[in-house]
Amino acid sequence: MSSNPVKSAEKSPYILVLGMGGTIAGLAREPKGNPLQYEAGQLGVELLLSHVESGLPAGIKIVSRQVANINSRNLSDALLTQLGIAVHDSLADLMVMGIVITHGTDTIEETGLFLQATCGKYAQTLGKRVILTGAMLPANAPKADGPSNLLDAIRWASTPIDNCPGGIYAVMDGRGCLAMDLAKRHATAINAPLRDSPSSSVGLINPSWLSGIKAVQAAWNEDLPIPKANEWPWVEILTSHAGARAQTIVHWFGSDVKGLVLAGTGMGGIHDEWKGALDQALGRGIALVRTSRTGAGTIYSDIPEKDTPGCMASGTLSAPRARIALQLALNAANQEKLNGKPLTWQDFFARIADLPEIR
Ligand code: ASP
Repeated sequence: MSSNPVKSAEKSPYILVLGMGGTIAGLAREPKGNPLQYEAGQLGVELLLSHVESGLPAGIKIVSRQVANINSRNLSDALLTQLGIAVHDSLADLMVMGIVITHGTDTIEETGLFLQATCGKYAQTLGKRVILTGAMLPANAPKADGPSNLLDAIRWASTPIDNCPGGIYAVMDGRGCLAMDLAKRHATAINAPLRDSPSSSVGLINPSWLSGIKAVQAAWNEDLPIPKANEWPWVEILTSHAGARAQTIVHWFGSDVKGLVLAGTGMGGIHDEWKGALDQALGRGIALVRTSRTGAGTIYSDIPEKDTPGCMASGTLSAPRARIALQLALNAANQEKLNGKPLTWQDFFARIADLPEIR
């Protein structure tokens, strides 16, 4: 095992493991005490790999690289840029067979969508799998789930799985899905269900799941550009709730905020108190996306009421995913403007929001 930089001098193909931190690299303060009292991002990725060395698939060479070692609640735009570039450049490297990313589960949802939207087509075209994984228990907890997740991810990245295309996946708890479908949906439960769509066992790929993956990949025609570290448009998530006030929207006027993701009630309903202020926001050129605070289901245009022109429904995107999608769409539209092409942020956003659902 070696921790050479991505452009390593390796002469034979290998799996690249990129470390981002998270609970998988975390340490409980008292290993035999409460495993929920721990610090995330304490162990280096090379050490995590040394814990699983005996279980690695025979003949597979591993190279690791620490991109960050954080609690993923602190994930930043700049780190996403760094990770996106590392993944993109590594996919281009002929020696890299596949990529595994160890990541915190708090914001694995954002990273999954980001990598799908910026590197998904590239990975698919090259036939290489990028696998995100993490853990619910810190590395020194008696029943730590990180080692088995890491091994499963390395297997998924390295095994020629019949018919399973290259792309951006996530593996947790013995099951794999598209990374854009993985999210933390329980605050504390150990091995909580983390997926928003059907998944497949790591050992036995389910054919109907595979046809769902292929439908999503067929609909995803072109990756969006990775924003430069300091060029991510500022987008906030605001939640509609009982007692909502117009000031929550008006507050952003005069700031550099370029977009608002509105986590509405039910089917994406917005409190009447916000409506006038939202019209003003649109008039000021602030991009608006409507999603649901319920955490599941599809948000359709003009349901429950007609959308103000310019405001987009989020489709199946949760609020954190819609936020990343809107940032990428705004950035792509800015670049289009520079190239003299007329595509809008709505055109780019719709490409992500309209991807088929895997059932
Ligand atoms: N707070 C941790 C993180 O996201 C949680 C985890 O990894 O499960 O880094």
